[in-house]
Amino acid sequence: MYRLKNADFDAFLVGGAVRDLLLGVKPKDFDVATNAQPEEIRQLFGNCRLIGRRFRLAHVHFGRDVIEVATFRAGHTDAQEDHHNEDGMILRDNVFGSIEEDAWRRDFSVNALYYNIKDFSILDYTGGLEDLEKRRMRIIGDPEIRFREDPVRMLRAVRLAAKLGFNIESETDNMIQEMVSSLHAVPSARLYEEVLKLFLSGYAVPTFKLLRHYGLYEQLFPGSENVFCYEERKHPLAMLELGFENTDKRVAQGKPVVPAFLFAVILWSKMQLNYEHRRAKGQSGFESFQGAARETIVSQLSEISIPRRHTTQVRDIWNMQSRLDNRKGKRPLRLVDHPRFRAAYDFLLLRTQAGEPLQELCDWWTDFQVADEDTKNTMIRKVRSTTKPPRHKKRKPRRTDNSENADKPV
Ligand code: ATP
Ligand code: MG
Repeated sequence: MYRLKNADFDAFLVGGAVRDLLLGVKPKDFDVATNAQPEEIRQLFGNCRLIGRRFRLAHVHFGRDVIEVATFRAGHTDAQEDHHNEDGMILRDNVFGSIEEDAWRRDFSVNALYYNIKDFSILDYTGGLEDLEKRRMRIIGDPEIRFREDPVRMLRAVRLAAKLGFNIESETDNMIQEMVSSLHAVPSARLYEEVLKLFLSGYAVPTFKLLRHYGLYEQLFPGSENVFCYEERKHPLAMLELGFENTDKRVAQGKPVVPAFLFAVILWSKMQLNYEHRRAKGQSGFESFQGAARETIVSQLSEISIPRRHTTQVRDIWNMQSRLDNRKGKRPLRLVDHPRFRAAYDFLLLRTQAGEPLQELCDWWTDFQVADEDTKNTMIRKVRSTTKPPRHKKRKPRRTDNSENADKPV
């Protein structure tokens, strides 16, 4: 900002960083708004890259940090219809403007505060300081128009309210309730990015509650509310809540969080239900599992484009649930070396915590991982002897379609 100022440009800290600093929260990233144009910014900074097609932005690199430097942009008047599609969604947003115009095109008043290094003041065009004091998210301008322009703002309202412990102001709140279904119009690739922010930013638990409250969760993960409705299965909801709690804890501890684990948790009950339908229709365990996993993932992809490398991992985690139960011979020894073992084991723990009767299996794997070679072999032998059929009992004939547990999600 000082370098821009010394070159006679205006430069302000803006957005989430100002909001967070005023609240005493550590900002996640820093955004700078300036009247310098992208090319002019580039000339001032050697460590600068211009990015974006829709918005031309400068990314200024300082070591591992990136500061986003954007030229003031104007919003749109109705006369500029060519900037919107027939649903009113913004297609282009690259008209340079004044600082005040820049403020009005931002999403929420608390996100439109500008910190001026010239006199250390805050510029507030949209009533953001008052909203910050009242701890509320208020969309700038006409809520209907602003949410129509970009339905992702509904998710941003929820995410930031959850993170900051803010309320959502009543007109903003009413309009979200009315417009939930417009989320459909958002490209699935953008929704994927937003979903990661919703659940991997350390506030997944309160975010999940708010998303469900508005019916946004159902929009993102269709059919999920149906699964929650199965009263006799109390696990689905418990498993999600515990999963989100774990994720939040890991984020707080600075531990890595894996998108695939998250999606495996979110989609698990739906996959299981699908599996059971298939079994009831007479499909084999193997067929049912493969079909249920594929169908669950494919139907989710039409909403949120989860990259293939993650969906492969989701399947692995699910697939390994039955393999964890199958502890014959050398299998457990091979399984612990599987690159996805840790995730699959964590997943098993989560299912158990959520109320599935798997405690004994969990304990076995907990001990097995840390045991020495001899103990491991003893443990495997013990499993075999307890699972052996009693000697004199007549064996049932093997059914071809159900002969192995191997492919059945337990
Ligand atoms: P976070 O703490 O997650 O970084 P943030 O508010 O800084 O929150 P960013 O995605 O970094 O969110 O966006 C920076 C700023 O850009 C926002 O504060 C807001 O002013 C503006 N902005 C971001 N997304 C939108 C949007 N969809 N519509 C209008 N303005 C937006
Ligand atoms: Mg930010």
